[in-house]
Amino acid sequence: MTHDETALRQQIIATAQDLNNRGFCPSKSGNVSARLKDGFLVTPSGIQYDALTPDDIVLIDAQGHPAASTREGLRPSSEWRFHQAIYQTYAEAQAIAHTHSPMATALSCARKPIPAFHYMIALAGGADIRCADYATFGTEALAQTMLKALDGRKAVLLANHGVVAYGKTLLGAATLAIEVENLARQYLALLGAGLEPVILDEDEMVRVQKSFAGYGKA
Ligand code: 13P
Ligand code: ZN
Repeated sequence: MTHDETALRQQIIATAQDLNNRGFCPSKSGNVSARLKDGFLVTPSGIQYDALTPDDIVLIDAQGHPAASTREGLRPSSEWRFHQAIYQTYAEAQAIAHTHSPMATALSCARKPIPAFHYMIALAGGADIRCADYATFGTEALAQTMLKALDGRKAVLLANHGVVAYGKTLLGAATLAIEVENLARQYLALLGAGLEPVILDEDEMVRVQKSFAGYGKA
């Protein structure tokens, strides 16, 4: 294992632990991955995040198979198929975070998109955050419904399940997953208060996306 790969494995663990510490991964749920030149690295299935070591992270090769070097008794995340589907479809995806964060997961159970009630929705790449059709966790069917709903976006809800977000870095993927939870909390608060949010129109959301493209750059 190269020095760079060991460092990436450590970053995956740090990202998973951060999301877990935020309460986004109850009962060992969620998973985190990062792209390699050939294949990707992903958290193992059903393991406590605080006990992870770099050797526990599983390498999925370019053919979609766990590498022979996988530690005995460990399997890749049950959701490795949707991680692979994102890397195959979106060249800019370098890292993926999947969470069961509380508010976004609650919304996913209504199987509704989060509309553009706040301009930060544009961070996910469009004018709403869609919700994928339901499919059983860990299946190819879920990878397919997720991919269909993602269509050009960087984050999506999974019906009766949770959130998937990707980014150019592990920090970027985690930051988007955190923002989706933030937006879901605000949206649910509005609905819970009996208020009807004013939805920003498509033109405004296009403007916001253009502004984001240059945001923070001198
Ligand atoms: P894994 O522990 O297999 O990654 O599964 C957690 C999960 O969130 C399934 O959707
Ligand atoms: Zn899940």
